[in-house]
Amino acid sequence: MVVAAVAAGAFAAATAGQTLQSVSDEGVTPLANAYDGNGAHGVGGDTPVAAPAILPVESSADASAEVRKLTESKKITDARKRAEEEAARKAAEEAARPKSFRPTNGVLTSAFGARWGTSHSGIDLAAPIGTPIYSVADGTVIESGPASGFGLWVRVQHDDGSVAVYGHMNSYSVYTGQQVEAGQKIAEVGNRGQSTGPHLHFEVWAGEDGAKIDPLSWLRSRGVSI
Ligand SMILES: [Zn+2]
Repeated sequence: MVVAAVAAGAFAAATAGQTLQSVSDEGVTPLANAYDGNGAHGVGGDTPVAAPAILPVESSADASAEVRKLTESKKITDARKRAEEEAARKAAEEAARPKSFRPTNGVLTSAFGARWGTSHSGIDLAAPIGTPIYSVADGTVIESGPASGFGLWVRVQHDDGSVAVYGHMNSYSVYTGQQVEAGQKIAEVGNRGQSTGPHLHFEVWAGEDGAKIDPLSWLRSRGVSI
């Protein structure tokens, strides 16, 4: 478009330190005589460009500011899109991850309840030393370390107040106060304390000092069957 070209030329000339008059001297656009019909005719041919000859100079300057504004707003939009996508990805990940988990991949060798004339307050899962032990649900580690009879234990309190107790471990990798997720490795199977072979002794307490309940039914109610 001729008008735009002239306007851009005039703008370029002006920004290059020349006066707008010099454009007129070159016979491009008689800006000083913007309302002169002849001058306009010479530039735009059939197009009556007399009045717009000045206006495009301004709109050309505005345009670069406008472009900066658009670029800036596109950057903000892109950043918002990225943040939204990241939030959606995290939400999908959170929805997809398990909320309950089998404590270890072992063989059930002893159930909860009466055993050898006494009461077994948890379940035993036999597995080789070093087999990973996982937190059965999201929760907070309330204790990890040595415990009488257990050798080492880890106790994790879950959101419903119940406490999962893991015993006889060879080692553990969580500390008191740590937040853990269902399926997160917290320890490894061992044979410490009063144990007759490598296994995980797993208990569930109704509360931190609450009654010991059957871990199998507790797990089953959360969709984990052993
Ligand atoms: Zn046991």
